[in-house]
Amino acid sequence: MTIADPAKAHVDEALDVLRGAMRERGVDAMLVTYPANVRYLTGFSSPEDATLLVLPDAAVMFTDGRYTAQAAEEALVPYEIVVGADADARLAELAGGLRLGVEAEHVTLKRNAKLTELLGAAPVPLEGLVAEQRLVKRPHEVDMLREAARITDAAFAAVLEFVREGVTEAEVALELERAMRLAGADGPGFDTIVASGVRGAMPHGTASQKRIGRGELVTMDFGAAFRGYHADMTRTVAVGELGPEERRMYEAVLEAQEAAVAAVAPGKGGRELDAVARDALARNGLAEAFAHSLGHGTGLEVHEGPRLSQRSEDVLRPGMVVTVEPGVYVPGFTGLRIEDLVLVTEDGHEVLSRSPKHLIAL
Ligand code: ZN
Ligand code: ZN
Repeated sequence: MTIADPAKAHVDEALDVLRGAMRERGVDAMLVTYPANVRYLTGFSSPEDATLLVLPDAAVMFTDGRYTAQAAEEALVPYEIVVGADADARLAELAGGLRLGVEAEHVTLKRNAKLTELLGAAPVPLEGLVAEQRLVKRPHEVDMLREAARITDAAFAAVLEFVREGVTEAEVALELERAMRLAGADGPGFDTIVASGVRGAMPHGTASQKRIGRGELVTMDFGAAFRGYHADMTRTVAVGELGPEERRMYEAVLEAQEAAVAAVAPGKGGRELDAVARDALARNGLAEAFAHSLGHGTGLEVHEGPRLSQRSEDVLRPGMVVTVEPGVYVPGFTGLRIEDLVLVTEDGHEVLSRSPKHLIAL
């Protein structure tokens, strides 16, 4: 590992920032157990059984024998291979005499009791320390998200050759996932949504065996994971000629989406941006049909902070990466959504999703 390795530089900086936050809360050591947080702080990608102990001037990860080869390849911090519950005995040894913090949202009562017994003192419950830091992406992370978005765009271009009357939603999903893997993705970052015709009224309609019919809208919500970072994009296309109401709905969603994207900038509130899209849809009589929030952050998880919603208190900062995804859903009729991945920059924003948004009829 060289000094110039951007992934290693990211991990070192992330650990330093975390130590600063730990000092502010009065703890000397911290146990990190939430998988995405472990990955963020170590580079290790299969943390189903990984625990990280952050000490004032060191960090040690514990995992088990199944991950020996993988830890050797990926871990950017020192690690020890331990068997099952022995990790806690070993980390109590290392953290002995220190005030130990734990992730209150993630540690189990059972583990907390065990640590209390081993340490002779109850751990300090801490909330959101790593999540707070993960809100703003470092340049290395933005590079990963940019690549994930590029792969996602490539998959959309590929699927346009495939979508037609008579193919099933499942076949469309498979084609998107195939294209993402071939273009370099770790894999799809989440269950691909393909919802056509009347199923379009389900915002989370995962691909079914339904065949796409003529005159239907087809909503595809998908995204590549690249080195753990998640793109998230939705495009809706038409197969054959649409009716006037579907066409009107599409134009209204596009207008709302473009208005909200245009408003993304540092200092803007998540609630304020949600209102931009909601107001645009209200002007077209479709406010009621917008049945979810405007967007969310992405990163090592497909859904993370900040939130863009009617109740959000979050304020955008440069380096945040968020989705902007208004949609309208009319049960028994149809629905659609348009979603881009957007980077908040110093003076505004950059749209990472490059796929066309005008109505494409196949
Ligand atoms: Zn999505
Ligand atoms: Zn999304």
